[in-house]
Formats: sequence, C-alpha cells, structure tokens
Amino acid sequence: MNKPRVDFNRPVVVGREMEYMAEAVASGHLSGDGPFTQKCHALLETELGIPKALLTTSCTHALEMAAILLDIREGDEVIVPDFTFVSTVNAFVLRGARPIFVDIRPDTLNLDESRLEKSVTSRTKAILPVHYAGVGCEMDVILDIAKRHGIAVVEDNAHGLFGKYKGKYLGTFGVMATLSFHETKNFTSGEGGALLINDLTFAERAEIIREKGTNRSRFFRGQVDKYTWVDIGSSYLPSDILAAFLYGQLEQRQRIQSHRQALWQTYEMALKDWAEKHGVRLPLVPPHVEQSYHMFYMLLPDLDTRQRFIFYLRERGIYSAFHYLPLHLSEMGQKFGGRPGDCPVAEDVSDRLVRLPFHNALSKAEQERVIEAILEFPF
Ligand SMILES: *Cc1c(COP(=O)(O)O)cnc(C)c1O
Repeated sequence: MNKPRVDFNRPVVVGREMEYMAEAVASGHLSGDGPFTQKCHALLETELGIPKALLTTSCTHALEMAAILLDIREGDEVIVPDFTFVSTVNAFVLRGARPIFVDIRPDTLNLDESRLEKSVTSRTKAILPVHYAGVGCEMDVILDIAKRHGIAVVEDNAHGLFGKYKGKYLGTFGVMATLSFHETKNFTSGEGGALLINDLTFAERAEIIREKGTNRSRFFRGQVDKYTWVDIGSSYLPSDILAAFLYGQLEQRQRIQSHRQALWQTYEMALKDWAEKHGVRLPLVPPHVEQSYHMFYMLLPDLDTRQRFIFYLRERGIYSAFHYLPLHLSEMGQKFGGRPGDCPVAEDVSDRLVRLPFHNALSKAEQERVIEAILEFPF
C-alpha cells in the first residue's frame, strides 16, 4: 500500500490569516501600508526592540533597498559568505558591486569570521552575515572588524527571526537587517520580507526608496503638503492583504516556534546515536546562541551517500533536499573570478548536506516515518 507523501515543506494557515485577509478586503485598503502593515511593523518593532521595521515584497527586495541605502556603486566590494542564497549578493551586484566570497565555518556553516579581515580592502562597503539555519554568526568579531574599518554590516536574517546571539535578537546587530516571509520560512505570506532598520539615519530615505522614490509616506503623515519625486526608488511595499495573512502568522509566533523546537529536538534525539555510528554530522548550535528552529540538516559522509539517501527517502514518499551550491562556483560567481578550491569548506558541505522535512504542519506521525526510514538506511 502506498503511504501518503511526507512533504519537505508545506505552508499552512496557523491562525486567523483568512479572517484578517477578508477584513483587509472589506476595509477597502488593498494597497500597501494599510492597517495590517502597521500592525506587522509594530509587532516586529516591539518584539525585537528595534526603532523601525518596513514590510517589503521579499527579502530580496529588502536587500536591494539596503544596497541603495548604502549608496553601493560600481567598483565597491561587498563581503558575503560563499554558502548562501543568490539574493544576498545579487542585490548588491545589481548596484555595481563586486562580491568577495568568504568561506564558511565547518561547524555552524556561517561566514568564517577568522577569514573575514583578510578580505577587507579600501573598497569594501558592506559585510553581509547570513545566520544559516537561524544559528547566529559570531557577531562580536564581525562587528569589531567592521567598526575598525568603517564598513556597514547588513544581516541577511531570512532564516533567523526570533533567534538570538548572546541574548540579543538576530537582526538587531547590523545597521540594517532583512527578513523573508517566503513560503519556505518559519512565518510566511507566500512571498514577502522586511527591512529592519537599526540605525535611524536610514529611516526616512528607506521610506522614500520603498515608495517609488517619492515622499509619499511623509505626505500621509501630514509632514509635507504634497508628495513628489525626490530620490531613486522602486515599488517595494506589499499589499495590505498579504500583510493581513502575515499578521495572522506572526500572531501565532509562540505556537509556531514551539512546534518547530519540538520537531528539531525530536530529530536530534532520535538520530544522535545513529549519526555518530555512521559518521553523519547533525547541526551544531553553540551554547551562546539560541537558534530560530528554521531547518534540520545533516552532513552525510560523501556526495554519493547523500544522493543515495535523498533517492532512498523519495522511494518511501519522503521528500528531503540539498541546499546551496557554492556561489563562487556558480556561472555568475566564476565571472567574478571564482575558482574551484577557493572556499573548500563550502564546496565540501554543499556536496554532503541534506535537509529533512521540517515545517509548521509536520505531524508527529509523519516525523516518526521519516526517522524510521532514516534508521534503516543502508550505508
Ligand atoms: C529565502 C532567502 C532569501 C530570499 O528571500 P525572498 O523573500 O524569497 O526574496 C535571501 N537570503 C536567504 C539566506 C534566504 O534563505
């Protein structure tokens, strides 16, 4: 008998999303910056203790806004971890920047801060730490290097909302940080994101860039009597219908996070001995970091085993996934000079990493099936 499939990811309604979307439609404010957008901004600002949050149409767009706000231009350099999603770097390349790929730490798979300073030049304008799997980067060291060289730090916190580093929320360290509400993330509106602004000197210009380069936000607050074109910009604000859906998700943050924590801990406990016996490495979370429970990954012994493992699970109706390919080896990365061997840790990890089914609707029974299948995998 064929068992139903166990999805790798399944976005689901967790609370009052549908009700709130209906409310947004009934209110007649369907465009951006309506009541639900304001609620999301207030929730993020209060929970994280930050001066300003702005919803955007994606994390990619929030990163594009950050690049514009930092006045990134032709010839500037930005330092990015080699093991991340393309948007972390593409947003800056769009403004003319040259990406400098830094290898990752073999334990947390985050940007290796011990290799960071070697990559700094007089042209370096930004450092982009990515908190992989919602496990914080070594922000003390990164901020210290950035400060000494006068470089801006922008955290790509697509994975790490509500995670902490040394007791402080991820996304509150850099001058700016970005969030993603894509359907693969802990909280979603299908597509969506946010720009978190920790340095208020960027706040007014951020509103302008997000509103097509106009001072429309100030106009709506009554601070100017007409609005006009004042800067470059684009359309980076989501419809209030999407904000309504997102608010329904964010409102359930405790339930979502504790469900994900339980799933994560169950995987870890059930697979610990098995992993040790077969040379598989489970995720590592340093004691001074509180993770956001974004994913559960494993490093298998080699590429061949990883490929067989994914295929083996799929035959049992269970969907797992590999992750990023090293950026320096991508077609674009090679145009920027990337060569095999540049980032050996990223190259190695990329071949061996597999992510297990992990989402807000994953049931105990489904997780049991995944674990049982894994324990029987023929090495
Ligand atoms: C998902 C993700 C993004 C892109 O997010 P979108 O909201 O889809 O633009 C960027 N960076 C990282 C690290 C991500 O995981």
